[in-house]
Amino acid sequence: MKDARLVLAKTSGQTTEIVIKPGFSAGGKQLMIVGGPCAVENAAQMNEVARVLSTSPVNAIRGGAFKPRTSPYAFQGLGLEGLQLLANVRRTTGLPVITEVMSEEQIAMAEPHVDVFQIGSRNMQNFELLKALGKTQKPVILKRGLAATIEEFIMCAEYIMAGGNHNVILCERGIRSFDSFTRNVLDLGAVVALKQLTHLPVIVDPSHAAGKSELIPDLTLAAIACGADGVMIECHPQPEKSVSDARQALSLQEMVELVERIRPFAAARGRTVGAKPIARPSVLTTSPAVSSASPAA
Ligand code: PEP
Ligand code: MN
Repeated sequence: MKDARLVLAKTSGQTTEIVIKPGFSAGGKQLMIVGGPCAVENAAQMNEVARVLSTSPVNAIRGGAFKPRTSPYAFQGLGLEGLQLLANVRRTTGLPVITEVMSEEQIAMAEPHVDVFQIGSRNMQNFELLKALGKTQKPVILKRGLAATIEEFIMCAEYIMAGGNHNVILCERGIRSFDSFTRNVLDLGAVVALKQLTHLPVIVDPSHAAGKSELIPDLTLAAIACGADGVMIECHPQPEKSVSDARQALSLQEMVELVERIRPFAAARGRTVGAKPIARPSVLTTSPAVSSASPAA
């Protein structure tokens, strides 16, 4: 293993708690449960996500404003408008929001609007981006590269920490292999190894690993059973109409049901799932029809 002195510095076998907002951290006793769409599409979609998830134990909302798409002709995200929609959800629900950034410019744009930066798989080894994140103090979810070794993954977290930002959360999201039935192979072995080697919180994204919504509940439960500090799951008010990653999106109802199923698995690991909050009147208004955009690859 190369010199990853900050990531590997483990004292008393403890996971470092990364405070995301007062009363909520990653790596503590309470699991971090993130839900939300692949991409922020419009206000109606995000308000509906906020309305449903804020009455569940989901404790952070995700949504991409800048989307790394395989095709340059595919929807690239709403940019600043998407960030503003996330900020609105953050205001109405009180929940922290998470979005992916792909450049230093996007870090600056997103900084006032979101609570956690996400670094996507395709940018795990974008070292200049990692150095720029080191200069902020906002928590970062660093996703494992599409074909990155555990050591390469750890070294990328080290880049962010060496730059001065110690608030790093690792995220296993599946790696490439020969099979194509699933989108990627969820590497739960890496989750166990990262928990043993590092002191950082480790969460699992079963959505991008499975690529198929019907596989996600069992993979989620397996992730919690093997000691993950949380999960990040894609869900959408109308999954089949998602502009990106439609095939893997859970409905909001499926998401809420899945979170309840996590409870006994969390308990078996000495962890907790947040209480079901009382719905806030500010997010209870029924949204008008959500996006009618047709699904894209
Ligand atoms: C995402 O979270 O929407 C995403 C693009 O994930 P990944 O970087 O893991 O492919
Ligand atoms: Mn996605």
